[in-house]
Amino acid sequence: MKTLLLSVGLIALAAAPTKPPDLAKVYVEAVRELNEKHARAPGKETEEELAKKLPAAATKALEGLLAAKPSEDLGAALRSVCDAAADLDRPGDFNRIRARLAELEPARADQLDRLLSRPRFVLRGENGVGESYLEGFARVFDGILDAYDEVFGFEQWSKVPGKKLRVRVHRVDAITAPPHFAPEFPYHSEIDFPVADVGSFSSPTADGKFLFYGLCHELGHVIAMWGDPRREADHHAWAHYTGVAIVEHLSSQKDAPDWMKPLRDVQWRSLAKEREAAKDVKPSLEKRENVLALLLALHERLGPRAIGEALNRLDREDRRLCVNRVRYYEFADLKTALLAATKAKERVAAIRELLP
Ligand SMILES: [Zn+2]
Repeated sequence: MKTLLLSVGLIALAAAPTKPPDLAKVYVEAVRELNEKHARAPGKETEEELAKKLPAAATKALEGLLAAKPSEDLGAALRSVCDAAADLDRPGDFNRIRARLAELEPARADQLDRLLSRPRFVLRGENGVGESYLEGFARVFDGILDAYDEVFGFEQWSKVPGKKLRVRVHRVDAITAPPHFAPEFPYHSEIDFPVADVGSFSSPTADGKFLFYGLCHELGHVIAMWGDPRREADHHAWAHYTGVAIVEHLSSQKDAPDWMKPLRDVQWRSLAKEREAAKDVKPSLEKRENVLALLLALHERLGPRAIGEALNRLDREDRRLCVNRVRYYEFADLKTALLAATKAKERVAAIRELLP
């Protein structure tokens, strides 16, 4: 009996990983499995609930990794668990890993990534984006999401229901490309957001970059892509429409919050300006300017709330094409969903007139 217990103990000892890459693998794989399982059947599970399901073996492996002595492969192992912690919204783990990396590479400590988690999103600051900048960014982002709630009332932001939105805020020497929605991530929706001045969030920047409008615009892409995945014009007309609608909404509040004060994009980006520019454009699906005129006309005659409800209805009925879980809607389905929500004669007539 004694010999048997001893041999079982030895087997367990032999199986437990001790090398940094092996310890990291246990954590990374556990996160991947949880995310994969959630993505297959999201149900009503939130990311907060999901994050609590990380198995004890994974947290134990992390403890082992954090206690590991410096070695050639420790840095890479720590970086891979850092990414996994961000993928499952575990800021506590992320910060402990970050602290260990800072001990190992004190000269680079300020350049290490930061993670900021909020109920609806996770921000990752890279390449010297500091904590206070991320906090300022989070206030603006929360305000924009609130405005989307008020104006459109979209129910589901992430392409994988339950998972929080991600924004990768990274410092660059000069902004050469606008922010963009990166649809390739398997378990969440993510916006890539370059910034040059990481002092505080203000817009437009000295060189004329509309960061505030840009963020509102990208969220339009996140909520809906349109028609043929290759027909870029529809996507940008839609995101431009929701973007200017949100900028105008936030800029016309009576008691604007402090974070709105350095955001002056409405002088150049507003529904009013677009209405003026589109007054002689025929609403249709032909070109970008026609699609924009169509969306502006729907906004005027039905209201943005009706558009939000129609997309929510299509999501509930699961009537859209998904590419890598990103939702693509058809204008024909939008028409059906808008019609399903009203019997009022004038509204039915407007929908039939505007949408082919
Ligand atoms: Zn766009």
